[in-house]
Amino acid sequence: MKISQLGEFGLIDRIRASTAHASRRIPVGIGDDAAALTLSPAATLLATTDMLIEGVHFDLAFTDFYSLGWKSAAVNLSDIAAMGGVPRAALTALGIPRGVTVHQVDEFYRGFLACARAYRTALAGGDTCSSPHSLIVSVTMLGEAKRSRIVRRSGARPGDRLFVTGTLGDSAAGLELLRNAEYGMRNRSEGAKKLITRHLRPAPRIEWGRKLAAGIASAMIDVSDGLSSDLGHLCDESGVGADVLADRIPISRELRSVKGLHGTAHHYALTGGEDYELLFTVPPARLKMLASRRIAATEIGRVTASGKLRLLDAEGSARLLPRTGYDHFAGGARRGDRR
Ligand code: ADP
Ligand code: MG
Repeated sequence: MKISQLGEFGLIDRIRASTAHASRRIPVGIGDDAAALTLSPAATLLATTDMLIEGVHFDLAFTDFYSLGWKSAAVNLSDIAAMGGVPRAALTALGIPRGVTVHQVDEFYRGFLACARAYRTALAGGDTCSSPHSLIVSVTMLGEAKRSRIVRRSGARPGDRLFVTGTLGDSAAGLELLRNAEYGMRNRSEGAKKLITRHLRPAPRIEWGRKLAAGIASAMIDVSDGLSSDLGHLCDESGVGADVLADRIPISRELRSVKGLHGTAHHYALTGGEDYELLFTVPPARLKMLASRRIAATEIGRVTASGKLRLLDAEGSARLLPRTGYDHFAGGARRGDRR
């Protein structure tokens, strides 16, 4: 069988099936943003790893090494945020092709460490190899959480409200502007620069994740592949459906007003990946607590028992929400080489 027949998530499910005998020491295994390992009754380790590959996740024609380092840290920190954890240490493994200079590696680590330090995370180790063709960055992030506070993808229940932090679609729009080679960076509007920065230097929502884990969120995931896709993961793990109100999806002023994009703002917000916002659910009884915390989050819908993802427009008519996020093997929309 070809891998494209399974797709990325079918392939992961297949790997997961072989781990069904999960150990008691691993309360969270494959299928969440990070794994959890019980070290002692008092200490739970969170661990996650994410790879960035040249030509798939980034293009060196418009990604500087500082930003690449920053983003490599940020995408992994975001998975710790999505569990409600505190990041502690990172390991970085690099596969470096010919032609990359020492200065570029220095810049990569300057960016990586700037992001890691901003979230009080240390670089504790890694690995360095040559690579025949493309630059490969693999980061492992370790963090901790109280076991009872860990927020999983699987805790959503019908009736819970659905929220997302920040705004969606900015990163995908920023990527398109970067690819649009007609304009140099200098000629770009302030709005366009903001969208590009959101793509190159995402901000992991560590603080919000911790607050949400303190008895507010019932389920949580970070938006890395796109709202429709990541909402699908959360609902699948929870065994629920969701109704999303189209006109509630938070869209930034910059995304609404920027010129030179092919799609609508709404399109980027629904299907664009790499915003690294937190998508979470809150039981009605905890809504007051959420309102009392300083978290920039917007209510975008509700968890249902239907098992289906639906998008409701302003008139209340519903359509099924296709899961059009990124899949490495399905031949669909790709993050780094969509042309
Ligand atoms: P995220 O987008 O949050 O990084 P992924 O979609 O990459 O999550 O992965 C989903 C789940 O599958 C995670 O629990 C991850 O650890 C697991 N996973 C992905 N690839 C593999 C693999 N090759 N072997 C074991 N587990 C994997
Ligand atoms: Mg994630």
